[in-house]
Amino acid sequence: MDNDSSSLDLEQVVRARALPILPAPEMVLFPFATVSLSVERDGLTLVNDAMTADRLMVVVHQKNVGTEKPNLGDLSAVGTLSVIVRMVRHGDESAHVLVRGLARARLLSLEVGKPYLLAKVSLLEDQDSGGVELEGLGKAVLDQFTQLVNLSDEMPSELAIFVRNVQPLGALADVVAALTELSVPERQRLLEELSVKDRLSALAGQLGRQLQVAEVGQKIQAQVRGSMNQQQKEFLLRQQLEAIQKELGEKGDVGRELEELKQKLDQAELPPAVRKEADRELRRLATIPTQSPEHSVARTYLDWLADMPWAVSTEDNLDLSHARAILDQDHTDLDKIKERILEYLAVRHFKPDARTPIVCFVGPPGTGKTSLGRSIARALGRKFVRQSLGGVRDEAEIRGHRRTYIGAMPGNIIQGIRRAGSNNPLFMLDEVDKLGIDFRGDPASALLEVLDPEQNSSFVDHYLDAPFDLSKTLFICTANILDPVPPALRDRMEVITLSGYTEQEKLAIARQHLIPKSVRESGLESLGIEITDGAVTKIVREYTGEAGLRNLERELQALLRRTAKLVAEGKEATRTIDEARVRALLGPERFNLGRIQALNEPGAALALAWTPSGGEVLVIEATAMPGRQELLLTGKLGEVMKESALAALSYVRSHASALRIDPKRFEKTDVHVHIPAGAIAKDGPSAGVALCAAVVSLFTGRLPVPKTAMTGEITLLGRVLPVGGVKEKVLAAHRADLTRVLLPLENQKDLEEVPPEVRDALTFLPVERLEQALELALSPSAEKPRQVPDVSADRNADVGSATGSQSEKAAAGLHRVRRS
Ligand code: ADP
Repeated sequence: MDNDSSSLDLEQVVRARALPILPAPEMVLFPFATVSLSVERDGLTLVNDAMTADRLMVVVHQKNVGTEKPNLGDLSAVGTLSVIVRMVRHGDESAHVLVRGLARARLLSLEVGKPYLLAKVSLLEDQDSGGVELEGLGKAVLDQFTQLVNLSDEMPSELAIFVRNVQPLGALADVVAALTELSVPERQRLLEELSVKDRLSALAGQLGRQLQVAEVGQKIQAQVRGSMNQQQKEFLLRQQLEAIQKELGEKGDVGRELEELKQKLDQAELPPAVRKEADRELRRLATIPTQSPEHSVARTYLDWLADMPWAVSTEDNLDLSHARAILDQDHTDLDKIKERILEYLAVRHFKPDARTPIVCFVGPPGTGKTSLGRSIARALGRKFVRQSLGGVRDEAEIRGHRRTYIGAMPGNIIQGIRRAGSNNPLFMLDEVDKLGIDFRGDPASALLEVLDPEQNSSFVDHYLDAPFDLSKTLFICTANILDPVPPALRDRMEVITLSGYTEQEKLAIARQHLIPKSVRESGLESLGIEITDGAVTKIVREYTGEAGLRNLERELQALLRRTAKLVAEGKEATRTIDEARVRALLGPERFNLGRIQALNEPGAALALAWTPSGGEVLVIEATAMPGRQELLLTGKLGEVMKESALAALSYVRSHASALRIDPKRFEKTDVHVHIPAGAIAKDGPSAGVALCAAVVSLFTGRLPVPKTAMTGEITLLGRVLPVGGVKEKVLAAHRADLTRVLLPLENQKDLEEVPPEVRDALTFLPVERLEQALELALSPSAEKPRQVPDVSADRNADVGSATGSQSEKAAAGLHRVRRS
């Protein structure tokens, strides 16, 4: 299809109607130039419509590429009135059009009504199109262009001849501009320039620079053509590219990226060896095409190197009185721990390079381990970072994956250090007691390397593959209990134990810290909400059966939130939260101590257990039924606890007459011991005394003495052996509002650690032998003989025939232990 637009009076057309506007994001069309454009969607509709009319449209450079539906502000002010010379359709979706520029056109106003833009435009005329100066300029441009054509491999020499014939000078400028490689903004500037003189001189400037670049390029090319290997060639070509970009005052994306990376690396002050490696990688990066996945791998690696705080460290504040003030400000009590921290600071004060101890805070959740860590960091003026090691089984999580793996990352330690942004942060490693070991390697030994002052000055993460000095980092580990911590690690740590808090301590901490902090953090200062002591105590007793403060803090926050909501809704006027409000806002109480306290049936006893979340009171229940002298154990008991139960039963049987139990009572009887709260795993030997008391109570009908809890390991011969975690256990008994605690004589010394108010509230009954313990734990005589089935009298009972399927019993969740 050819077209003849000369017959059209363009002025008349533009005066008569609005013209379709084709936004072109990447190009500027000059009058007299012909370009091929690809159109789709709205553009295609526009071209279709134009083809059925006079084929005219205005091609305008779109400045703001982001929008699909540009408006006037997204477009340049001047575009080119053009005619569609030819159209080639590609199905219904898109088409190619050959477009020729006719004249400059200024957009006046947009009109709506079509899926594409329509606008009224006015045509723009060239100014000052004559004179000697102008002719001189025209000649200069022609000469420059000819030279450029001669230097270029891509432009055919006929072009130079062709442009010589273009008239007038304004058109010459447009044609040369269209044929020269100019940036889009530069082209637009030339399009908008109506003074032919200014257009020509701007173009001459551009051509001058292009010529320089082309000459530099030629020179380098000549060098490259010498005998060089491929890599050198590539390098030089890259330099050429850079030189050209520099000459043009612009930077390619790759050049800019490399430059930025290099700057970042310069600022990071890498150790020389690492810098050498980084530079090598940087050079390699320059040769990898950006589309290649390897590019981003190398780039990420360099980012990591540049982001590590190789030379960034904070200055320690070793002022002891300042540190003490901060520790006191953040935490109530914990005097021993604060002293230990201050000692550490004092040592640092006199010997700054003293070896840093590896401290481990051990205690139930919510006892302030993390917040102490934060506080120490604050006192020292160090950055604080935290990484949990709970469930870490793979050595690579600590030490990183080798870079060769896709998606490789540095390990926890290096990640933490980067987050800290300094090479001497306080680094808290949480849950070291929950480290795992499996086929993927032993994370504990990797951790040892991190913590060991002998080795950690050159810790090599597999990903970074360069030594990083961790010796200035202050590591603090935390654990709920020490036993599961791998021994090699345990040996090197200085353990600081934090135990649960008493009710009074919790109340004080809530007053001084938790409530003000929660109010502050939820931004409710202005509401003036008050929480009474009674309310706090109620939450402590009836909503949070815990050693620490986590749930207390959470419930306090919930109270504040809910009150704030009611106040905001205008449903609540009182801003004081007392016990009744606690019930109303938090719902029914969650801990009912009545169950423990109202224990008055034979066959029961209260044991004290020590779990990762602090001390706990366990109710032990024993019952008997016709059977074959078996002992059934349920309630998720560990092996050691099962053995304790076996020992307890054997003790009772062997001392039956002394305990005034008819030995026949054990015949044809199964004993079932159950410890409720079945979801919690229970283990350890310390429930021995309580298990024994429950069984004796069952067979003698003697009731357990109310509000009495007991702990102690037993031997078959009736000795009571010491146990661990006494403080936590005593606190649990106190929390449960019990009054008497039986404990092994040898554990009496541990009571010193128990806070005085708890010691005063409880009666401690130290025992050495089981007989003593049973006398103290059980009422003297059977008040209400329990209906223990006396199956020995039942002649018909089936004794020996049925063996029962063990697997069936196992499937029923019973641990059946046959006594021999
Ligand atoms: P952990 O790390 O031991 O699980 P957290 O440090 O998270 O415990 O403590 C739980 C909450 O109790 C935190 O808000 C903490 O500030 C607060 N807390 C714990 N102990 C004290 C204390 N002695 N004085 C003040 N606040 C405390």
